[in-house]
Amino acid sequence: MSGNEQRHLAINEITNRKPVPTDEIGPLSQIWATDVFSLSTMEECLSKNAFKAMKQTVKTGAPLDPATADIVAAAMKDWALGKGVKFFSHIFYPLTNITAEKHDGFIVTNSDGHAITEFTGSVLIKGEPDGSSFPNGSLRMTNEARGYTAWDPSSPAYVMHTANGATLMIPSVFVSWTGESLDKKIPLLRSNAAMDRAAKRLLTLMGETEVDTLNASCGAEQEYFLVDAHFANSRPDLLLTGRTLFGAPSPKGQEFDDHYFGAIPERVQVFMQDFEDKLFRLGIPAKTHHNEVAPGQFEVAPYFEGANVAADHQQLMMTVMKSTAKAHGFMCLLHEKPFAGVNGSGKHVNWSVGNSTQGNLLDPGSSPHENLNFLLFCGAVIRGVHLYGPLLRAVIASAANDHRLGANEAPPAILSVYLGDQLEAVFDDIRTGNPSDLAEAGVMELGLAQILPFTRDPGDRNRTSPFAFTGNRFEFRAVGSSNSVSGPLIAMNTMLADSLDWIADRLQTELDAGVSQLHAVASILKELMELHGDVVFGGDGYSEEWHRAAVEERGLRNLPTTADALPVLKEQMIVELFERTGVLSPAELESRFDVYAEQYVLSIGVEATLAAEMAKTMVYPAAMAYLSDLGATVSAASLVGIEVETLAMKVVAEEANALMVAARELETATAVHDFASVEEHMRYCADTLRPLMDRLRAHADALEIEVADSYWPLPKYREMLFVR
Ligand code: ADP
Ligand code: MG
Repeated sequence: MSGNEQRHLAINEITNRKPVPTDEIGPLSQIWATDVFSLSTMEECLSKNAFKAMKQTVKTGAPLDPATADIVAAAMKDWALGKGVKFFSHIFYPLTNITAEKHDGFIVTNSDGHAITEFTGSVLIKGEPDGSSFPNGSLRMTNEARGYTAWDPSSPAYVMHTANGATLMIPSVFVSWTGESLDKKIPLLRSNAAMDRAAKRLLTLMGETEVDTLNASCGAEQEYFLVDAHFANSRPDLLLTGRTLFGAPSPKGQEFDDHYFGAIPERVQVFMQDFEDKLFRLGIPAKTHHNEVAPGQFEVAPYFEGANVAADHQQLMMTVMKSTAKAHGFMCLLHEKPFAGVNGSGKHVNWSVGNSTQGNLLDPGSSPHENLNFLLFCGAVIRGVHLYGPLLRAVIASAANDHRLGANEAPPAILSVYLGDQLEAVFDDIRTGNPSDLAEAGVMELGLAQILPFTRDPGDRNRTSPFAFTGNRFEFRAVGSSNSVSGPLIAMNTMLADSLDWIADRLQTELDAGVSQLHAVASILKELMELHGDVVFGGDGYSEEWHRAAVEERGLRNLPTTADALPVLKEQMIVELFERTGVLSPAELESRFDVYAEQYVLSIGVEATLAAEMAKTMVYPAAMAYLSDLGATVSAASLVGIEVETLAMKVVAEEANALMVAARELETATAVHDFASVEEHMRYCADTLRPLMDRLRAHADALEIEVADSYWPLPKYREMLFVR
């Protein structure tokens, strides 16, 4: 079958595809969290004392005593067996952006050969996958490959169904045998604890007498593309790298803006409903969904939850999205830039911190005192982004996100903070005013009164900012769509902990010296804004002027590629930040750098190799076949004395030659492996391999709009984006 026949067959099949109906599912109240071993399930099946101990563990993270663990394990097993479960798995979150699991049976045989089920507290608490093949940077030598998974009781266990069975999934941490974190969960829990300590200290200094445990919360908006599986499966690039390495732009793209918030195509709607039902069963509060800017692009946003659970749910959601899409004949693309020239996909991480006694500390309150707390926490975030912006950039760095950041439809790679007009004016006053004047004239309160009736109108927001205040939270918009939210949350919690401590130190000194609270807060915030206010920016983050001014006038760092951003993890200031806050030891941090750097060079290596191969084995042959037929036509025509114009032949021949030269050059460049350091290797990927790939692509894309359609082997952009 020729490439074109295959494509047309696919279009035919897709057009005739019916939405896949799913089993009748009951109303939300009946399906909500039915597959979750939640606190309310436990309340039903545990003794009063066991439940109390368990609840305490969930709330404070205090370890569970072995006897209670046995009771919980037995109850969990019975609950799971009742749902048809035969296997269990500790699911963990290694340094890749995906999850890992090893399945074990509940089944054991006794001495007379009968099968019985067994699940003790110690099995629940600790698993032992042979972790040697998980990336660990320099932390584990293969002769000490043992890694442990340990149950994280603060994230509920749940049941995952497949067509032929069900598995009990136990959210877990993953540590090396020497006790170092090999995952994304441990530092997230530690960063939350560091933030809690610092926040409690500051709030106590502010005169709060009752301060409950503080928790970061996270609500992540997830963008993704759906492409019909017929197309996706005939694109080796989508299968292997998650993005199209070649593809001429569709004559109609997203310029009409007719997709954004438009009617959702029925097949997609059916997919979404199925997928959301699955999420509801798993206790994941999917709340909104809509079309995104690009054709074929969509968004789903769950309601926010505590950061640790939200991070686990986010990973689970990505898994469920992919498998459900498959069942509906789609491929779900979570890649940051599947299609060149079309909007990429991000994941907006909405983040705030709060507790039951003070509420959300990033929500301006109704009393002057609440607003002082709000200004201090907000100021702490401003300082954090100013000092640790490069860290925020580093934790979202990947080969895929490099295509997005800094391009003209995505957040810039320079981290700045958008506050909105009203709040920016308040902080400006704080920065320029004399603190004691401010306090005496009651300007502080005045400014706060202005920010009370906050407009939370999304239309009001600056979409060009990578880090925006949105009324009661910050929205980190530069995060990539396939990124785990853990890295960003760890960085935000940790920078906040550091800033809150910085503020608390100063406040302590001022209060000890007898300065009034209002004066002290005013002067600390003034100092903070003088030192760090340059990170606040309300203008157009896409503009060239900002890229210049941010760097030249404000001293902010522009880290355009992963090769620029990742080495930040090795900078002394960052090493000290994580060590001081107890979030990551220097060894743990270094191992992360090693793993992420390796992932970057590996991804680009795969892309480069595949691009050269596709050029040689798919694009070039198509061009040659077309050329040969053109040639035959020209000769046939000349036999009867007609001279056919040969411009097309000339263009195709030239582009095909150039394509082959570029493919060979890329191949040679990909074979280079002697680098003095991984930093050097990353630079090579960014500065040599990527530009060579771009050059190769230009020739392939030129051929696509020159070679007759019937010869073209790859599904085209206009097909993948518009045929559903
Ligand atoms: P928009 O597209 O306007 O940014 P969405 O409603 O799509 O808004 O998404 C907003 C996200 O922010 C949701 O996931 C929501 O639950 C989350 N969110 C709201 N309040 C908070 C908060 N205090 N902390 C963290 N996330 C929040
Ligand atoms: Mg948003």
